[in-house]
Amino acid sequence: MNNTACPLDCYDACEIIYEDHKIKAKKSGHTRGFLCPHLNHYEKNQQIQSPRYKGVEISMDEALLKLKELIELGEKNEILHYRGSGNFALMQGVTDHFFASYGATLTEGSLCDGAGEAGIIEGRGSNKNMPLSQIAKSEVVILWGRNPHTTSSHLLPLLKDKQIVVIDPVKTKAAKISDLYIQIQPRGDLELAMLLSRFLHIEHGCDEQFLEEYASEAEDFYELTQNIRIKAVLDKIGVTLGDIGDILAMVKGKKVAIVCGIGVQKYRNGSEVIRAIDAFATNLGLFGKEGSGVAYLGNSKEAIESPFNTKAKRVSKVDTKFSDFKTVFIQGANPLSQMPNSSRVVSDISKVENVVYFGLYENETSEAASLVIPAKSFLYKNDIRTSYSHNAMISMHKQKDTDIGISEYDLSKFLCKEFGIEIKSEDDYIKHFKNFSVQNIDGAFYVENREDIPYKEGFDTDDNEFVFLDEFEVHDYKEEKLFLITSKSPKSLNSQFNREENVYLNSSLGFAEGDLVEIESSVGNVKLKVKINNDLRNDCVLIYSGTKGVNNLTSSLHSYEGKNAIFQEEMVVVKSI
Ligand code: SF4
Repeated sequence: MNNTACPLDCYDACEIIYEDHKIKAKKSGHTRGFLCPHLNHYEKNQQIQSPRYKGVEISMDEALLKLKELIELGEKNEILHYRGSGNFALMQGVTDHFFASYGATLTEGSLCDGAGEAGIIEGRGSNKNMPLSQIAKSEVVILWGRNPHTTSSHLLPLLKDKQIVVIDPVKTKAAKISDLYIQIQPRGDLELAMLLSRFLHIEHGCDEQFLEEYASEAEDFYELTQNIRIKAVLDKIGVTLGDIGDILAMVKGKKVAIVCGIGVQKYRNGSEVIRAIDAFATNLGLFGKEGSGVAYLGNSKEAIESPFNTKAKRVSKVDTKFSDFKTVFIQGANPLSQMPNSSRVVSDISKVENVVYFGLYENETSEAASLVIPAKSFLYKNDIRTSYSHNAMISMHKQKDTDIGISEYDLSKFLCKEFGIEIKSEDDYIKHFKNFSVQNIDGAFYVENREDIPYKEGFDTDDNEFVFLDEFEVHDYKEEKLFLITSKSPKSLNSQFNREENVYLNSSLGFAEGDLVEIESSVGNVKLKVKINNDLRNDCVLIYSGTKGVNNLTSSLHSYEGKNAIFQEEMVVVKSI
């Protein structure tokens, strides 16, 4: 079978045909015959070829025995399993099965979407996402902090012939072709969402029938929105009353998809931001209807039971105290670059006796590890995947053989056998996942029991009603400092592939292309070369996620809800060197 799927942590979860030794896009279905550059150049990326211990190349058998020895060295509770999402397929979780059954500690929390998800669950009772198939049926799409050209290119064909509103501090490609663009100040999203609800109410534009049935506290929420001082707030966030009127004129009575990115929730109050956007959608009556709703990141494992043992003590992924452990096994992750407050992480990990890195590519974490075990890429193993933006379940068939690396299943099987832990066959696990899918008339498999139009029968709260915010926190900031934006780069996926090396600034800040500058926050600093980008507001500093040193600037505090990292909370200053 020559079909598989892109394994990367990306909304689109493209389907792939492997033909003539080449990765090609599946023509039908959500992949629409094209892949992004990450996969088009996938096989050109140099992967780790051999295992090594303390810098010396060893065989895979020796590496596995060394891993066993390191696990046996200390107490069970002195072992930490830190797993990232460098590969998003479902069999990646089989290592959790070994470590949880053994008695090791696992992680919880998120470096991505957790605050937003917490806000969604508080409002709706669950996180059921508006799938791509429904966005295709909308008349108006609001891209709220989402940059589809970079993060979800398979949304683009669906945007044709629709009215597009873009709300983003960066004038993205989508903003340039939109019908209405609001270059909002970072952190202004919560107040804008509240004001949209307020003016919708004033203009009698709310879906009264929907509110009566599913959101009877809407009047109290309207009162809450009155705490916002209109003129002062609009001036602060860079929005005009005319903009509000234009948005409302475009969305009233229409099928509207509000498509949110993760940038809006990278703050301590990130859950409130998404919940305020959800409240605006509720006031418009967008839930449970064809072509309408809010698309954020759904739970890719919704309606699927894990076959693995995952019951374990857990520590946060955001501020993990690695030095509490004797042996740390890091899989598909690069915490030395991707966790907030890098200098804390570097110093803390340096105190760990044994750091084991299991992954495809060299990075800061593989450099710091004593034992490095190469993984097998998706082309060399069987797996299966789902997505957080659509409901397909895609089989990932092995396409070829290699002597390089080991699959997550084979590594877990070895450890389970050595430590007397029960493990089923790889086929059994893949069959288990497949049992949660159903084949549609188009021949594709979809996760069964996932609603194509979520919330048709009301919300998943106790009384089926939407739970509005009853208080909110507004960001207080110092005008002499700049907002830090840490979007995903078009060239890299977090710290995988071609990583960026620059800081992007508006030319009005007085720096020139190529200047070396120091960017400083209350957490730390980083030196980078300037690239001028006048698509940015002049109160922003853009450093793409994955740029070396960006997380010297970020705080390892958590969001108030959702145990999420808050990569954009810190404000920064830029100094010439
Ligand atoms: S768009 Fe996303 S899923 Fe598709 S090939 Fe690129 S990274 Fe993979």
